[in-house]
Amino acid sequence: MIDGEEREEVRRLLVGMLGEEKVLWRAADTVLYRKDTYRIPFESDYEYAPDLVVLPETSDEVREVVRLASERRIPLIPKGGGSNRTGMLVPIHGGIIVDTIKMDGIMELNHRDLHVTAQTGVTLKKLEEYLNEHGFTLTQEQGSHRMATVGGAISTSAFSRKNQKHGTIANRVMSLEVVLADGRKLRTGPKVLYTSTGIGLHHLFIGAEGTLGIVTEATLRVEPLPEERDMVLAFFDDFWRANDAAQRLMSSCVTFTGGEAYEAADAESLGAPEGKKGLFYVGLDGTRGEVEAEREYVRGIVRELGGVIADEEHTRAYMDRYTEQWCGARVETRFEDVLTTYVPMDRIEEFYDRLWGDIMKRHGIRPIPGDRYGLDVGRYKMVGGRYKVPEGADGWREYQAALEEVATLATELGGSISSCHGVGIQHKENIRLEYTEVALDVMRGIKRILDPENIMNPGKKLPDDVGSP
Ligand SMILES: Cc1cc2nc3c(=O)[nH]c(=O)nc-3n(C[C@H](O)[C@H](O)[C@H](O)COP(=O)(O)OP(=O)(O)OC[C@H]3O[C@@H](n4cnc5c(N)ncnc54)[C@H](O)[C@@H]3O)c2cc1C
Repeated sequence: MIDGEEREEVRRLLVGMLGEEKVLWRAADTVLYRKDTYRIPFESDYEYAPDLVVLPETSDEVREVVRLASERRIPLIPKGGGSNRTGMLVPIHGGIIVDTIKMDGIMELNHRDLHVTAQTGVTLKKLEEYLNEHGFTLTQEQGSHRMATVGGAISTSAFSRKNQKHGTIANRVMSLEVVLADGRKLRTGPKVLYTSTGIGLHHLFIGAEGTLGIVTEATLRVEPLPEERDMVLAFFDDFWRANDAAQRLMSSCVTFTGGEAYEAADAESLGAPEGKKGLFYVGLDGTRGEVEAEREYVRGIVRELGGVIADEEHTRAYMDRYTEQWCGARVETRFEDVLTTYVPMDRIEEFYDRLWGDIMKRHGIRPIPGDRYGLDVGRYKMVGGRYKVPEGADGWREYQAALEEVATLATELGGSISSCHGVGIQHKENIRLEYTEVALDVMRGIKRILDPENIMNPGKKLPDDVGSP
């Protein structure tokens, strides 16, 4: 926290740099920056507050803010759309939130070399719409695409449901511009997808959660829009039968974009015959011929395993609405949480048995009906489940204890606690289970080189980063 007098001085300096309208300081203006979608204990919902919020428009403005913060050792938290689920933006040490909302310019689309360069505050939805208008796509299908920004997606190493065929944002980053903690501007490398000349510096910022610098511009690989898109939607008796189809598909050679197998409470309204609760869908895109052949292949798997293929009308309706549905409607962020665990595919059954049959039950946590089981089908397999977060301080303690046990279980089975929701403050201690001391030491070393004063999003991501600078 900055003390009163210094805060006023810093505010005046920032106003001098950016102008009055790009500096927020009154409680009424900064209240929305006190938390993000992570469920922190009820009583501390409004305990933390940023000292100031700035809304720069250019990387030069970001640089000026960072230089000032660096001189005075003030914590800085870069902010995108605010949709992360693990408390990455909670200003636990006060400081300045750098909201990138105004940095949403799209600078260059290269039709030949297939890349786009944009400021990092642009939302994935806006960028995708721009690309579609020009015949291209970023290929990233993220449930939070309306809110999440390019900077946020890179900094959380976000998951896309089209990962089987098109990878995630991590596979699309070609070059980044980053304002480092000392105010220098870093260009991580040339705007090429492949080079063997340097150490791949851009990788450092993928999943860094704002702890290493502020990413101000990104050059990303794009693809031409596919000629055809389709989906196979099918119903099985239960999740486990849908999971059999998913496993068969994932070990076949057929190309698909991605998909899901889950237990659906509303399966009948989606066209399922009575009693069929296991839903399985698979996305396809490419040339017309490719999609036709792949569709038949996937349908063959479904039939062989006793599934029922949805008719065209229901498939089309599901396909049209599933991104929007997946986004907001399925997540009530305040009282629910969602697991994005990875466990090896031959341990899923054991994982779910111990999750719902033991751990969650002991801590009084119930799954949301119809969301007990779920598997994201693709290269980056994710095993999920949604549950109610218990109320009150005791409930919150139970929730934290349960999460620690889930983390222990996932890592014991050879998996990962959080395939796509990162660490933030939620998993800060639990990542000790996943990384050796040597690995954590290397991460701390990288942090010390890039941010020696520990001003970049302090107290997040690394286990014993306790610190305000
Ligand atoms: C309904 C819903 C659906 C979701 N679906 C998905 C999904 O499909 N896939 C998935 O991966 N996640 C999903 N999430 C989680 C979340 O949307 C992602 O983590 C997202 O990528 C965060 O982007 P953001 O712009 O909102 O980042 P924020 O929440 O604003 O920030 C996240 C982190 O990135 C850092 N950061 C942001 N911008 C920058 C920058 N320019 N430079 C440096 N650091 C920066 C912040 O400091 C913070 O640590 C979902 C969340 C919700 C609420």
